[in-house]
Amino acid sequence: MSVILELTRQITAEVIAPAAAAVDAERRYPKESMQALGKAGLFGLLVPKELGGLGGNLADLSAVTETIAAACGSTAMCFLMHNCATAVVAAKATPEQQERYLRPIARGEKLGTLAFSETGTGAHFYAPEIKAEPEAGQFVLNGKKSFVTNGDEADFVIVIANASSPGLGTDMFIVDTDAPGLRFDGVWDGIGLSGNNSIALFLERVKVSAGQLVGAEGDGMGLVFQVVAPTFILGVAGVNAGIARGAYETALRHAQTRKYADGRGLAELQAIQFYLSDMFGGVESASLFVSNAAAKAVRGDADAILHVMQSKVQASEQAIRVTNIAMQVCGGQGYTKALPTERYLRDARAGAVMAPTTEVLKEWIGKSVAGVPLF
Ligand SMILES: Cc1cc2nc3c(=O)[nH]c(=O)nc-3n(C[C@H](O)[C@H](O)[C@H](O)COP(=O)(O)OP(=O)(O)OC[C@H]3O[C@@H](n4cnc5c(N)ncnc54)[C@H](O)[C@@H]3O)c2cc1C
Repeated sequence: MSVILELTRQITAEVIAPAAAAVDAERRYPKESMQALGKAGLFGLLVPKELGGLGGNLADLSAVTETIAAACGSTAMCFLMHNCATAVVAAKATPEQQERYLRPIARGEKLGTLAFSETGTGAHFYAPEIKAEPEAGQFVLNGKKSFVTNGDEADFVIVIANASSPGLGTDMFIVDTDAPGLRFDGVWDGIGLSGNNSIALFLERVKVSAGQLVGAEGDGMGLVFQVVAPTFILGVAGVNAGIARGAYETALRHAQTRKYADGRGLAELQAIQFYLSDMFGGVESASLFVSNAAAKAVRGDADAILHVMQSKVQASEQAIRVTNIAMQVCGGQGYTKALPTERYLRDARAGAVMAPTTEVLKEWIGKSVAGVPLF
């Protein structure tokens, strides 16, 4: 096992798992879990070693998100969105951005997130309506971003906007959350991932300098497909594989320990044994699909992108299926908060609707295998 994974398992056992039920019940940000990850250096998972980070890759990321999500989906999602933002900065960081963002991230001092989604663009997050307006050598951002995970806990956000010059496509900016004109609003009221603090971001004449641009003007679309997509997709596939694993392990423990008055155990019933087999297969197939896709991405295999896209579909569908079966195995107790099965069920529902959604991915995968152009 890698050092990164060993460290993650330790923090998950000592801090993240014990806090998970309260984070969900109180619908609060998993502060202690995120602080523990930052303190251990895991915020710098994707920061190069020469800048003080762990120099990890996408295989490390998906293994880490799977491990965390088996205990707490909210923490896994908060951690993932931070890593997506870090990956964007790391892809094209200027020396100044390295010092201002990547080194502090590696020290656990800065938390980032992505502000991509807009109400008008929905699942098509790569086609923003917000425009970067040039003004006196700077850019001005106006508009609303919906669903910003980590929300006001973040120190910086990566904002995607239409480039100021026509024909240039999209830009990405690193925007500090204390910038004048930037504010968060709302409360996360989703059915699951209760602690992920995914709230709306308002940009009201927020001025950003050219030094806050990631790469050059017009680099946004390349960053979306080459950096954000593989990082987010493999990371969220890991989250869903982990949620499935957490639900399976809960149901297995319950089946092994629940005894009836006549002394028979739940696990002795054939119907339950079938369910256990079904869940075991679902969890392993999701996990193996994700780790294989991540290994392909790290190696740069020609068919990596196809496997990466399918890994999110597989893991999301297995998470929904396995958490449903776990509910059945745990019976009425699983339907209450006596067991975390209902939390896993609610958490599992997010992956499929997070962009790129299952439907969008299936269309892209179908087109890719058939040799039909994506757009
Ligand atoms: C828990 C959570 C955390 C999130 N965190 C972030 C974040 O940190 N940053 C961020 O930028 N965004 C975030 N999002 C937003 C997310 O990525 C999506 O942009 C958002 O969920 C889209 O919601 P919508 O209602 O606009 O979907 P819609 O676009 O209205 O989609 C509704 C349905 O239509 C389907 N559909 C849409 N277009 C097509 C098509 N062309 N073909 C087939 N089917 C289609 C979709 O698959 C979906 O099933 C988060 C969302 C959730 C749920």
